[in-house]
Amino acid sequence: MALSQRYPEICHFIGGVWQRGAEGRAVINPFDESIIGTIPRASLEDLAAAVSAAESGYRIWRRTAPAERYKIMIEAVRLIRQRIEDFAVAMTLDQGKPIVQARLEVLRGCEIIEWDAAEGLRTYGRVIPSGVGMRHTVLRQSIGIVAAFSPWNFPMSSPARKIGGALAAGCALILKPPEETPAAAVLMARAFADAGLPPGVLNLVFGEPAEISAYLIADPAVRLITFTGSTVVGKQLAVLAGKYMKPAVMELGGHAPVIVCEDTDPRWAGSLSVESKLRNAGQVCVAPTRFLVHESIADAFANAFVAKARTIKIGDGLDPVNQMGPLANRRRLESIQALVDDAVAKGARLLCGGGRIGDRGFFFPMTALADVPPDARISAEEPFGPVAIINRFQHLDDAIRAANSLPYGLAGYAFTESAATAHRLVEELELGNLSINHFTASVAETPFGGVKDSGYGREGGVEGLACYMIVKNVSHLTQRSN
Ligand code: NAD
Repeated sequence: MALSQRYPEICHFIGGVWQRGAEGRAVINPFDESIIGTIPRASLEDLAAAVSAAESGYRIWRRTAPAERYKIMIEAVRLIRQRIEDFAVAMTLDQGKPIVQARLEVLRGCEIIEWDAAEGLRTYGRVIPSGVGMRHTVLRQSIGIVAAFSPWNFPMSSPARKIGGALAAGCALILKPPEETPAAAVLMARAFADAGLPPGVLNLVFGEPAEISAYLIADPAVRLITFTGSTVVGKQLAVLAGKYMKPAVMELGGHAPVIVCEDTDPRWAGSLSVESKLRNAGQVCVAPTRFLVHESIADAFANAFVAKARTIKIGDGLDPVNQMGPLANRRRLESIQALVDDAVAKGARLLCGGGRIGDRGFFFPMTALADVPPDARISAEEPFGPVAIINRFQHLDDAIRAANSLPYGLAGYAFTESAATAHRLVEELELGNLSINHFTASVAETPFGGVKDSGYGREGGVEGLACYMIVKNVSHLTQRSN
């Protein structure tokens, strides 16, 4: 079968039934700009049906024993692992990422669901000591129906976080997968259905994002909003959530600083930085972006970065030799080009890359800009692509000030062998996630999320699961004192 024929049909999944619905936008392969599918466009009736299906699903799932939920979730993961090539091919076709990275993302999504499934067995409450005849019991109960919105950059692992957390806590959910990269969510819903998840517990709706979010956030049956995407959209949804007094988890943009101290080997750090930056062609909210390098090693670091960047194999993600595929869509290409041109016009030095490759497919090379002035737009705006800013610092104070100077506070990185320097950075950097001497921002068991404009709430770890639960305190007077 031709690889492009392995792209699944994109349908709504409501109450356990696949539904075609009215035709919506085309799905484009960013490698050659061909149309590989279409998404349906949910009507208000479809959305009402999804809410009603989720209500039915929730009535069953909240009463399903955690051990039974665990079994179904683990069976779904087994099926996903078995079908990994279907996922990976579809994700490379619609997102553009190299197939090796697509496979790793599927495995990461599986690990997240497995961890959540296991942690769902341990959502303990507690008993608070009290006077004779009184018992205070703290219970943790599922929050209810969740409206989830996942982004186009991680079509499998981002919905896996939302599905894993919600199902482990006993919630039902309605997921709106991304318009541009919808296939992985469809394949995941299929795996959960095949694993025996009751109808209505997991529903998918596609269409116009603003119509879907406005409807679902306002619906009284929906009790939690979880969104991963841009800060601009996150703020709009947070306003809506506030209007209807709904709690929300917001995983938004970042502009990750990387402080490289003078005691670091610049050749090692420069090369490692490229390996991290090329993941998903830099379209990662935690991608290292603002390199702040001590002046004594800045040139060596930049040289190592550029040398490694020039070795990257860029091309069709389906060819396993390629390390970087195209950008996911045309608007990313246009927005990155504009940011790079603006920086160069304002005096930044272009060390490598800098312009679109070819005229078909959304290819952009690894790009490094040095000595970028503060008034360049890229100094404050997240490039969300393969562009690194390499600036130098003299005193650690200045690096910390620069790192904290933006409204973002998602992930950040530091390279140092000094415990004292590391301790200072831990204390002073305004971030949700700080990784020292490596570039992994989070794993299934650690909480992930931001501060400031990067959002609130957490995904992953016990903190992530807690977002899908309410705390109920029961005070029971069993014996009157008279
Ligand atoms: P964008 O703001 O145009 O849209 C992003 C996504 O948000 C779209 O795919 C759409 O499905 C969804 N969306 C838009 N309006 C919505 C609404 N009213 N209700 C619900 N969903 C809505 O951004 P973009 O150009 O696609 O991506 C660039 C920016 O997105 C980046 O700068 C980055 O900050 C952010 N982003 C962040 C993450 C993350 O993991 N935090 C992931 C992907 C994108």
